[in-house]
Amino acid sequence: MSRNYIVGFPRIGEQRELKKSLELYWANNTTFAEIEKVASTLKARHWNYQKDAGIDFISSNDFSLYDNVLDTAIMLGAIPHRFQALKDETRYFSMARGNKDTVAMEMTKWFNTNYHYIVPELSLSDNYTLNATKIINEYKEAKALGIKTKINLIGPITFLGLSKRIDRGDTYELFGKILPVYKALLAEIAMLDDSVTLQIDEPIFVKGMKPKVLSLIKPCYDALCTVSSNINIIVTTYFEHSNEATKVLVHTPVWGIGLDFLYGRKNVESLTLIQQSGKKLIAGVVDGRNIWKNNIAKTTKLLENIAQKVAKKNILVSSSCSLLHTPFTLRYEEKMDAEIKNWLAYAVEKLDEVSLVSKLFFKETLSVEEQKALQSNEAANKERQNSQRIHNTAVQKRVSNFTKLERDGVFEERINIQRERLGYKDLATTTIGSFPQTPEVRKARADFKKGAISTEAYETEMKNYIDDCIAFQEECGLEVLVHGEPERNDMVEYFGEQLDGYGFSQNGWVQSYGSRCVKPPFIYGDISRPKPMTVEWMTYAQSKTDKIMKGMLTGPVTILNWSFVRDDMARGDVSKQIAVALSDEIDDLQKAGIKIIQVDEAAFKEGYPLRTENISDYEAWAVRDFKISVSTAKKETQIHTHMCYSEFNDIIRTIEAMDADVISIETARSGNELLKIFKEVGYKQEVGPGVYDIHSPRIPSIEEIVEQIKLLLKVLPKEQLWINPDCGLKTRKWEEVKPSLINMVKAVEIVRENL
Ligand code: GLN
Ligand code: ZN
Repeated sequence: MSRNYIVGFPRIGEQRELKKSLELYWANNTTFAEIEKVASTLKARHWNYQKDAGIDFISSNDFSLYDNVLDTAIMLGAIPHRFQALKDETRYFSMARGNKDTVAMEMTKWFNTNYHYIVPELSLSDNYTLNATKIINEYKEAKALGIKTKINLIGPITFLGLSKRIDRGDTYELFGKILPVYKALLAEIAMLDDSVTLQIDEPIFVKGMKPKVLSLIKPCYDALCTVSSNINIIVTTYFEHSNEATKVLVHTPVWGIGLDFLYGRKNVESLTLIQQSGKKLIAGVVDGRNIWKNNIAKTTKLLENIAQKVAKKNILVSSSCSLLHTPFTLRYEEKMDAEIKNWLAYAVEKLDEVSLVSKLFFKETLSVEEQKALQSNEAANKERQNSQRIHNTAVQKRVSNFTKLERDGVFEERINIQRERLGYKDLATTTIGSFPQTPEVRKARADFKKGAISTEAYETEMKNYIDDCIAFQEECGLEVLVHGEPERNDMVEYFGEQLDGYGFSQNGWVQSYGSRCVKPPFIYGDISRPKPMTVEWMTYAQSKTDKIMKGMLTGPVTILNWSFVRDDMARGDVSKQIAVALSDEIDDLQKAGIKIIQVDEAAFKEGYPLRTENISDYEAWAVRDFKISVSTAKKETQIHTHMCYSEFNDIIRTIEAMDADVISIETARSGNELLKIFKEVGYKQEVGPGVYDIHSPRIPSIEEIVEQIKLLLKVLPKEQLWINPDCGLKTRKWEEVKPSLINMVKAVEIVRENL
């Protein structure tokens, strides 16, 4: 009797083997056959981890060389025209990454995770045909190793929902073209074995869908279920509840429904319907996207509650989502504090948790080892709950009594004082904070971390960089300067390292896209700032120039969104602690003579909840905490913020409510279109739209930037505009950055002369 289940497993490898192999191949230092070899080793290893842990439902086709939405596009033959002349792996990687003649396909975030998928490009005039090779091969590969897998697929409705139409129009109009290909796929899958289980992921169902889309569910799954009687279809959702879709799915012949009971607690409302339908319930109860050790007692209780409604024999115990979003294994965390390490579980450890939880739930006898594991789980959870390292009553008290929720003075008053004091012109020029991270700077940081160079040597290296950075900015005539962020390898980690309550891993890599992995820090306890974090660097930088040096901080919401967050406290409460710590930093900066401070909220937009009904709650604490962090800023201190995302229409009022004096935004790719909303709503604060795209090595000409500025001036008056490039100069080379910024400044001069 099969009883437990893993939605999907990470694939990059516990030592990032796949990443390394891919990057060697892209640099022409290895062959594709070599990548395939690495991939086979990894797949086998991952299947065996799951098998050894006693997992009954193990996936195939959760592996990918780049991205599984891209794999789905290939499976459907949805190849954009510009790649059609290419073949096999050359085509695959060109679609993902572009090549010297062709731009890559767009990439965007997978729901509210930090994983990015490739956005399929569809068109009504294209025909779609099946290419099932990868799916079939992967199934056989596992079977040859003695493992009968369930096959993971991205569902047709989610696929369409995540794609874009290059011929304009609604992607769902292509439903009739896509569904037959899925049916053909199922027909091939049916021949693989006596019986096959298919997990069809439809996470789009959690977003609360329009009636038209909802109406596709029944025809879709009625049709797929009739392809062959030897296929058991499970429709899986995660990250939120999907009650609207479940209501429909129970009336289709699907075999099972997979639901997330951690991030979608409201899924319990569907339990009675599921019971009545007699379908299997894949109950996501072990967190697939966080790093905390499961509380096994709590989880079994949750399962017992579920079992009040759904017959136990129909329940499978599962991870809440694919484990793709967690790091691999704690095995390599050699440096981590033992107490904290004992609170964590990565993907491999979660397998044992799922197995143990299911044994307890189904009242199987535990082995001696399992009994020990259970006891140590209880002990670890108890220790964590009571640990002094988590609870800091002084912080809790200060944060809950924090009353300064707002800056002094309204914008109109502040901006007059600031303009008088700072004396910048209309169309003031600046940049978003970072400058190119050279190999020397990276090496100095790494050496310092390892203890290979002294503090003095390290500081000299950083200061030299800052000096050069300032010299260049002065030379080219930029007006508000930055120090260039050489001391930061990451805009969140840098602050996390200096805040109490933050932990770091050595090997906690999580795939972000393709071969790229991130190693998010984790918040385990109450957050406080033992001492100033940026003041020394900023005052050094300011002492080297007569121009205004802009201080540079990462905002509370972004720090939170790019970290693993403790699960014993509401996100908004954690964010408030970070905000209070940042408010002290801002106060220290202004006392040290810094007159402009930028508080980056790069991840503000991506933190938005998946369901509209939860948005107002998020906005309430996110805005509150941004405002708390800048509440110490005096009227004369100018607060800038920055946001990367280029869709402001639905959040413009929220941005306005954040009450920053200046906001810079990433806009170069969308021209002045994006800016129109600022005018439409009568946005008063100042705005710095990126005037050129930094994501390309191309150097923009003066004329081109002049044109761009003129376009901006058609939307907003010169008094309201700042001129800056898009964010992320740190990812470019100096040879690209210098001429581009020189041209930007010249362009502003030309425009000013003609005003
Ligand atoms: N200050 C950062 C920079 O310029 C902001 C990065 C970002 O927006 N992601 O690189
Ligand atoms: Zn940005």
